[in-house]
Amino acid sequence: MALTGLEIYKQLPKTNCKECGFPTCLAFAMKMAAGQVSLDKCPHVTAEAKSALESASRPPIQLVTIGTGDNEVKIGNETQLYRHEEKFYRPAAVAVKISDSLDEEAIAQRAEAAGRLKFERVGTEIKVNLVAVCNESGDAAKFEAAVKLAEEKSGLGCVLISASAANLAKAADALSGKRPLLYISDPTEAEAAAKVAKDNDCPLAVRADSLEALAELTPKLNDAGVEQIVLDPGARGLKETLESLTQVRRLSLKSFRELGYPAIAFTTAEDPTLQAIEASAFIAKYAGVVVTDAVEPWQMLPVLTTRQDIYIDPQKPVAVEPKLNAIGEVAEDSPVLVTTNFSLSYYSVEGEVEASRVPAYVLAVDTEGTSVLTAWASDKFNAETITEAMKKSGVAEKVSHKQLVIPGFVAVLSAGVEDESGWSVQIGPKEASGLPSYLKKQTTA
Ligand code: SF4
Repeated sequence: MALTGLEIYKQLPKTNCKECGFPTCLAFAMKMAAGQVSLDKCPHVTAEAKSALESASRPPIQLVTIGTGDNEVKIGNETQLYRHEEKFYRPAAVAVKISDSLDEEAIAQRAEAAGRLKFERVGTEIKVNLVAVCNESGDAAKFEAAVKLAEEKSGLGCVLISASAANLAKAADALSGKRPLLYISDPTEAEAAAKVAKDNDCPLAVRADSLEALAELTPKLNDAGVEQIVLDPGARGLKETLESLTQVRRLSLKSFRELGYPAIAFTTAEDPTLQAIEASAFIAKYAGVVVTDAVEPWQMLPVLTTRQDIYIDPQKPVAVEPKLNAIGEVAEDSPVLVTTNFSLSYYSVEGEVEASRVPAYVLAVDTEGTSVLTAWASDKFNAETITEAMKKSGVAEKVSHKQLVIPGFVAVLSAGVEDESGWSVQIGPKEASGLPSYLKKQTTA
């Protein structure tokens, strides 16, 4: 939890010596509380005060970095229990599980499939982040070979899962410099695994059978020099996992330091649909990493969509640039459609126009990222704003007709738009999904 200026001030020497560049210790404390200056600017702060301030200003949930370069994922550092109170900051990493008991070809196929799990949604790429290689064989050499193969074929960051610290050490060495998340499934090996994590500069996930056991374990890992920890409270199954993830989040936000780390969750359902449902639920309720067997695109798309929706700032509408967009090989007789610059509205329209294979212009009007009905109700999508957007876009110079298609939900705007713009207005379908048949009929007519 962030400290207030007064809380920081209490720990300062209060001599107002100005050596930090500020006229008083209080002024320095206020700047520090605002995050504009760091404690090391005061040369007179005592070691006790420094340690108290550093530990109090540590985020309630430790930031953990997995992978490097393009594969780097940061999890943790969250500050809220309820998304609407502010926002969630660091999307959960999604990992596809691969067993080292599979043969080489199956490992390669699964890893390649995981690497292909990327989609474009509302103008943003959403994708799987990690492969989680599981040492089910118990064999160190098999594990090491599987890890190398899965990393190479997927092109993704890795989670290395084993019950043996020695096997983890071999596999981590094979991925030297790539910062995989090491996961030790046997709690009795946790301290040995901490040494492996420290030696390889990797984050460490630990499992215990209860939250109490985890709370006892994490200080030992800190003593071994590991700060970047991921917690597995050992629960399995949808209900039990959600309960433990929620408890970890609640306790960490109450500054219970021993559990102040992101958590990892595993889907266990055998039914492929339930795997996707479990993964989505864990993402919605606080998992920092979700490991799943789901590898089919139809399973993963709803999981990644849930993640994208949960981690969008609820106080900031997602908007596209308000402008005229040409979809397909447009010509001067191509239809002109209008919608708002709310990204979900815009991309729904764009997607359906593409699907219709009828080239068309789509004009996104600046409604501050609100949807058609919301913008109409708040008077941001009206005859004047639509006409203004048409003029600004220069659409009249691009087409040889003067016909504008407006969304069916705002048919009431047609007369006003006709008067204001001088174009004739056609009422389009209410939902974007009606556009392909609408456009095809228009073209045929
Ligand atoms: Fe106060 Fe330290 Fe700044 Fe001196 S250097 S004014 S003691 S905060």
